[in-house]
Amino acid sequence: MAYGMHTAPDTLALIGHTPLVRLDGPSKATGCDIFGKCEFANPGASVKDRAALFIVEDAEARGTLRPGGTIVEGTAGNTGIGLALVANAKGYRTIIVMPETQSREKMDTLRALGAELVLVSAAPYSSPCHFVHTSRRIAEETPGAIWANQFDNIANRRAHIVGTAEEIWRQMDGRIDGFTCAAGTGGTIAGVGLGLKAKDDNVTIALTDPHGAALYEYYECGELRSEGSSVAEGIGQGRITANLEGAPIDTQFRVGDQEGYEWVRRLLNEEGLCLGLSSGINVAGAVRLARALGPGRRIATILCDTGFRYLSTLHNPVWRGEKGLVEPVV
Ligand code: PMP
Repeated sequence: MAYGMHTAPDTLALIGHTPLVRLDGPSKATGCDIFGKCEFANPGASVKDRAALFIVEDAEARGTLRPGGTIVEGTAGNTGIGLALVANAKGYRTIIVMPETQSREKMDTLRALGAELVLVSAAPYSSPCHFVHTSRRIAEETPGAIWANQFDNIANRRAHIVGTAEEIWRQMDGRIDGFTCAAGTGGTIAGVGLGLKAKDDNVTIALTDPHGAALYEYYECGELRSEGSSVAEGIGQGRITANLEGAPIDTQFRVGDQEGYEWVRRLLNEEGLCLGLSSGINVAGAVRLARALGPGRRIATILCDTGFRYLSTLHNPVWRGEKGLVEPVV
């Protein structure tokens, strides 16, 4: 059977309906069937196209976003790319605020889409210079602008309840034992978690948290505490966003960059899949979940974006050397 063999009426109809692929190496390593949801197949090449579309259409429905209006957002890049493509298709402007630490490919993609790019230095969330606060200020000061507010706007997770979760359920024929992914805004883990639990309360929902994020400790012992750091873009959260409120997390894993990178490398070399580090961390989490649940189980995770977005970083040996990532021993 050929996947994606449908004719879409327009670009926005290409968002979602992504294929699910069985990952052979992770499946063989665990005796389970581990599947990856190919979010790199979205038109903006990441999972965030889904949230972008829902956020824009929610603002249109509320009447806050009017013809010719402007969408402002703070983002690690992928949400900005999703918003810019949705805005172009619907006739809006975009202003995107992004930390300068993110990959050059994301910045170039945003410029190519015609977004106005505002780069800020990396700052803690408590600082007024943080990209999220900067984007809110710009939205307040720009006439006819809305602030997308992906972290606390639950139109984000709704995209995953009605879209991603529903698709995974159907693609796995309703036979799924566990799901895991990491959190940036938390929209994916909370939305897919809520959506799958509504279908079958026995599906185990596991959070995979990178180093430097505070959610592992929160779900483990109720305290937002972090240790270490991660170079993975787009994931790592230090607070309970509105999207994360009520997320049905049953268990949690903490996965380091090196463990995630080893899966990125293996999937590239052995299966021809070029992914980013958040996808590798998700696959490492799926392997942990498979081992926790035992052989024969069916587990899904998210392949968040394309590795072609990280040719100057993760897929560049000089950058990897600087960040201390080493090649897996095969
Ligand atoms: N991976 C990448 C590469 C991302 O850009 C994001 C979004 N920030 C995520 C994972 C996490 O998705 P979410 O915001 O839904 O938690």
